[in-house]
Amino acid sequence: MANIYYDKDADTGLLEDVTVAVIGYGSQGHAHALNLHDSGVDVVVGLREDSSSRAKVETDGLSVTTVSDAVSQAQLVMVLVPDEIMAGIYEEDIAPNLSNDAVLAFAHGFNIHFGAIQSPEGNDVIMVAPKGPGHLVRRTYEEGSGVPCLLAVHQDVSGRAKETALAYASGIGGGRAGILETTFAEETETDLFGEQVILCGGVSELIKSAFETLVDAGYQPESAYFETLHELKLIVDLLYEGGMGWMRNSISNTAEYGDYTRGPRIVTDDTRAEMRKVLDEIQSGAFANEWLGQAREGAPHLLAQRRAQGDLQIEQVGKELRKMMPFIEEKRA
Ligand code: NAD
Ligand code: MG
Repeated sequence: MANIYYDKDADTGLLEDVTVAVIGYGSQGHAHALNLHDSGVDVVVGLREDSSSRAKVETDGLSVTTVSDAVSQAQLVMVLVPDEIMAGIYEEDIAPNLSNDAVLAFAHGFNIHFGAIQSPEGNDVIMVAPKGPGHLVRRTYEEGSGVPCLLAVHQDVSGRAKETALAYASGIGGGRAGILETTFAEETETDLFGEQVILCGGVSELIKSAFETLVDAGYQPESAYFETLHELKLIVDLLYEGGMGWMRNSISNTAEYGDYTRGPRIVTDDTRAEMRKVLDEIQSGAFANEWLGQAREGAPHLLAQRRAQGDLQIEQVGKELRKMMPFIEEKRA
């Protein structure tokens, strides 16, 4: 069984005389910076000179400066910029200004694990990765709870790397929910596999294929939208609350019978073999090389797909139908 830690296991005193530089103020950056600040930690946010987020940091009551300046002031540097441009920012602005004894921290193992960033020799290198988007990390903290976190140590020079990671995770609220110990390799590979095979890639393709099958067979797109996309949320909520047993307990016997008999015809041995191949590409670094190469060229495939997929009929139908359900739109705010 995995090691799981809570606030009682963390010595938050370790961050008492420490200035934490949070680099980036996006989804994760704003949540880490504000939660740490509210936990009594001294935080400075590092951003590009011309960053549009500067004003927001100031309105939020935190101090903001350039990346190089924030790094020079800090004994712990948490890097929360997009993974595909992180190595460039690291080389230019972080590495040259990193104090000898500063702790270098990440919220995803991607760059360290695939070698795009080489660990600095004399520094602790840790990961604290909330298992949720930043707005949830912030909201749950404000409500007095927290989002579960993963913790990993890549390099322990001080002998206190894990304790520091625990204190940080606790400072952002993770210790209220649970802090699970993992490795950079496991976090990175399972994270990529999950988003490719099920959470993002798998689910999107299932939805699109099912929608198009119904529409091609002559059913109204509106009915197809409700059945293949909208209702997914109800099922996911049940899965989240109580696993597959609870979901199946809540659906009709007819739905449950169709689940057992038809599901395995959709996800077949071929699908499982392809999942294994996708995992192989992640483990070998082939996916990381492909994506970092694409990103260096301005991510042409990603941008073309973003446009093409936005034009799909299911997206247009969905936009209209969601106007009937203003309670959904409110959630996006
Ligand atoms: P994001 O895209 O929301 O925010 C990135 C921020 O980086 C921008 O808002 C900007 O403030 C800053 N930035 C961009 N270019 C910069 C530059 N050149 N110099 C300095 N700052 C710059 O990113 P995110 O989703 O918060 O991801 C940050 C890290 O957190 C990544 O490693 C990601 O894998 C990890 N992570 C994200 C999530 C999530 O749900 N979003 C969850 C867990 C871990
Ligand atoms: Mg993930």
